[in-house]
Amino acid sequence: MRFEKQPAALPAEETLDPANWDDIKAIGQQMLDEMMHYLQNISSKPVWKKIPEEIIEKFDQPLPVEPQELAEVYEEFKETILPYSLGNTHPRFWSWVIGTGTVQGMLAEMLAAGMNSNVGIGDQAPTYVDQQVVTWCKQMMGFPAESSGVLVNGASAANLNALIVARNSMSQYIRIRGTQIYNGKLVMYASSETHSSIQKAAEVIGIGSENVRKVRVNEQYEMDVQHLDEMIRNDKALGNNPFCVVANVGTVNTGAIDPLQEIFMVCIKYNLWFHIDGAFGALAKLLPEFGQRLTGLELADSIAFDLHKWMYIPYEAGVVLVKNANKHRQAFAVNPDYILHHDRGIAAGPEAISNFGIDLSRGFKALKIWMALKEHGIKKFRRLIRQNIRQAQYLGQLIRQESSLELMAPVSLNVVCFRYNPGMLMKGELSELNKEILMRLHEAGLVAPSYTKLNQEYCLRVAIVNHRSRMKDFDILVKEVKKIGDQIQKERSFTYIEMKNKVA
Ligand SMILES: *Cc1c(COP(=O)(O)O)cnc(C)c1O
Repeated sequence: MRFEKQPAALPAEETLDPANWDDIKAIGQQMLDEMMHYLQNISSKPVWKKIPEEIIEKFDQPLPVEPQELAEVYEEFKETILPYSLGNTHPRFWSWVIGTGTVQGMLAEMLAAGMNSNVGIGDQAPTYVDQQVVTWCKQMMGFPAESSGVLVNGASAANLNALIVARNSMSQYIRIRGTQIYNGKLVMYASSETHSSIQKAAEVIGIGSENVRKVRVNEQYEMDVQHLDEMIRNDKALGNNPFCVVANVGTVNTGAIDPLQEIFMVCIKYNLWFHIDGAFGALAKLLPEFGQRLTGLELADSIAFDLHKWMYIPYEAGVVLVKNANKHRQAFAVNPDYILHHDRGIAAGPEAISNFGIDLSRGFKALKIWMALKEHGIKKFRRLIRQNIRQAQYLGQLIRQESSLELMAPVSLNVVCFRYNPGMLMKGELSELNKEILMRLHEAGLVAPSYTKLNQEYCLRVAIVNHRSRMKDFDILVKEVKKIGDQIQKERSFTYIEMKNKVA
C-alpha cells in the first residue's frame, strides 16, 4: 500500500527588499528633504550640544529581535542621533583637523551605496572610476603617471600602507622571514611634531616606537635636518639599519612644512625611503603660490593625504601614492586561487586593487571624489583652500591686535594656535584658564576650536578645513574667547576677595 504523505509546507521565501516600493520612495524622499533642510540651516544651530543622559541610555538596548517600522526608526534617528554630532558640518567648527563634507557628497554616497560595489576585484566600471581618481590624485601632487596609488579610509591607513612598502623594499625576503632577517634594528626618522599615526604604523609593522627617532624642530616647528643627519650617522655607527624618513607637509599642531628638498638630499645620501605625511597640508600643492615652499613634494617615494579634510569630501577618503609601482605591488600582492585574474568574464578587468594594500573588500569611495572633482573642478577647490588660508591669516591678525590674546606659533598654513593671556598669571594657571575657556566655548555651542600643547603650554588651536566658514565667524571666535576669559577672571577675583574677606 502506498502511503500518501503531505509535503511539508516550506516557509514563504523572503527578501530584505521593501514590501511596498511606493512607501519606501516616500520615506526616502522625506529623508532627502529633511537632510537637505538640516544642512541648509546648519549655521543657525549650535555647533555642538552635550548628549543628555536619557539619550545616551537609549544606546544601551537589548539586541532587537522583533521588527519595527522604518519610519519609527528614522524618527528615533532624528531625535537621538542627528542633533548630537561632533559639529563638523557647522561653519564655526575648527576642532582637530576634521572636514566638513558636502551636500553633493551625501548624494554621491547614496548612489554608491545603491550600487553596493565591492571595488577590489573584477571587471566593473567602479574600478575604472577608482583608478581615474587615483590618476587625478597623482596629477594633483605632481607624481608621475607610472606611480601607483590606493584610496584608503584615511591618512593613518595611507601612512601605514606606505611604511609597509618602505620596510619591505629593504629586502625581498622580509615578507617571508619578517624583520628578523636583520641583525641591527630597523630605524626610521620623523620630527618631534609628527602625527601619532606614524608611531602607530611603526608599532604595527614591527619597527617599535622606540626606533622612530624624533628629530628636533626649529622655531617654526620644522625639522632640523642637521640633527636628522647626525642621528642617522649615529645609528649607522651603532650598527642599526636606517630605512626611512617621514617628512611633514602640514604638521597637526601648527601646519608646519618640513624642508622637503633638504630631507630628500639626506635620503639620497643614505639611501633611505622618503615618505611624506601630507594629511591636510599636501592639498596646498594645488596652489601655484605654494610652488616654492612645496618643491620637493614630488620627489618623495610615497605620500599620504586625506580628501576628507582639506578637499571637504565626506568621510572616509584618504590616499597613498607610491612612486615605484613595482615595489608597491611587491609589498602586498598575493594570488590565491579564488581571486585569480581571468581573460574574460567578470573576473577579467584591471589588476586587483588588493595587490596594493591590505583591504580585499573595498567600498566605492571613489564615486564621491570623482563627482566632486567633475562638478566643481580643481579651480574651485583652489579657491576654497586659499580662502581657508586667508581666514587663518585674518584670525592671526585679529589675535595680534588684542592685548589679552597671544599668538602661540607662526601661522604658516590653515592652523592658528593662540591663548587668552591677560598677564600676571603663572604658567599652570594660564593652561588651566584656557582649558576652562575651551570647555565653556564648546558648551555654549558657539564656536569649536580645539587645543594642543606647544612647548608644554596649553593653547587653543583652530584648524580650518571648512568651506562654510566666513570671516565674520572668526570675529565671533575672538569676541567669545575674550568674553569668556574676562568672565572667568572676574569670577576668580571674586572668589579670591571672598576668601580674603573670610580670612580677615
Ligand atoms: C589627520 C591626520 C592624520 C591621520 O589621518 P586620518 O584621516 O585621521 O587617519 C595623519 N597625519 C596628519 C598630519 C593629520 O593631520
